[in-house]
Amino acid sequence: MSRHLLVTNDFPPKVGGIQNYLFELWRRLDPASFMVLTTDHDGADQFDRAVDFEIQRVKGPLLPTASLARRIDRLAEEFQADLILLDPALPLGMLGHRLQRPYGLVLHGAEVVIPSRIPMLRGILKGVMKDAEILIAAGRYPAQCAYDLLGESIAEPKVAIVNPGVDVDRFVVPSPDAKLAVRRDLGLTEGLGVLFVSRLVPRKGADTLIKAIAMLDQGKGSPQLWIVGSGRDKARLGRLIERSGVDAVFLGKLSQDRLVALYGAADIFAMLCRNRWFGLEQEGFGIVFLEAQACGVPCLVGDSGGASDALDPGGSGFVVQNPKDAKSTSLALETLMRNPELRLRMGQRARNFVESDFDYRSLADILKDAIDSVVLA
Ligand code: GDP
Repeated sequence: MSRHLLVTNDFPPKVGGIQNYLFELWRRLDPASFMVLTTDHDGADQFDRAVDFEIQRVKGPLLPTASLARRIDRLAEEFQADLILLDPALPLGMLGHRLQRPYGLVLHGAEVVIPSRIPMLRGILKGVMKDAEILIAAGRYPAQCAYDLLGESIAEPKVAIVNPGVDVDRFVVPSPDAKLAVRRDLGLTEGLGVLFVSRLVPRKGADTLIKAIAMLDQGKGSPQLWIVGSGRDKARLGRLIERSGVDAVFLGKLSQDRLVALYGAADIFAMLCRNRWFGLEQEGFGIVFLEAQACGVPCLVGDSGGASDALDPGGSGFVVQNPKDAKSTSLALETLMRNPELRLRMGQRARNFVESDFDYRSLADILKDAIDSVVLA
């Protein structure tokens, strides 16, 4: 059995996409095969007591300092680790060169794209990545970013793609009664419901969705839009809703259980994520699409970064090529709205697609094999 340390700034109970990805994968590995070094956070004591692997925490962010390098070396020695995995690649990855044992990096996308466009950081990042034993890419998109940066200098097996996934036992297709119950509970329509779940920031495209709903042929009935999440764009979205007369409900932040139930109660899930700042900001993957599909809901996905990898295009939903274009979004939405049988078929395919390709159990096996392939080689 190989042994490694995962050193990361992003681990629960801190909430977010990266935290979720790391926890869901690593908690499925053999607890004796790794330990985690991360930052302190409210609720950490309770969290750490509840897991079956070892976590050590430090105050404040993990930065590439000499003292952190010494601490990691000490831990690695005690734990007899064969490999140190660092996340993010910058700045923490810069520690890699100073460590006594081999290191690897976990890549998510943005932390590669942004520095790779800034000449000085590009050189540093390239050096950090070139000397890593393994690059674990959270999807095809960060893997492609790594290939683009490293060009020919990288040997193919060094990049291991371990997609984000979903807990298919928790995100499930609910019964018709359960769907109705959650709608009643939250005071939502019993007619067509379109769900949006995300931080409320412009890149996630709730504005396009509102405009697209406003463009639907109102004579044929309009869906109710359910908006889950919070963020700085809320007031602007509120004004847009008021002006357009779209039937929309802000549900704010929901508990995990409520959120799972709401996914299943929706008829369509839509998030029209888009690129911003000339491509510097893109969607890394879009776990929300997997969550919706696991609950048997077809998706409308904006084409940005790795988002289109998170569905079976045409099978479990549609990719909107120009996610800023409310008209094409509106047409795709209308196709799904007017066709309950299509929604049903796509919803079934969505569940099958996620079960076969994005079950965290099999993704954790891929992760384990990827680590073993460099350590035991
Ligand atoms: P990111 O924010 O760009 O990382 O977007 P992702 O789509 O990759 O991941 C967002 C994660 O946050 C998903 O797992 C969502 O289910 C979760 N999330 C977003 N809003 C809420 C909320 O209101 N409640 C809960 N419980 N989870 C949420």
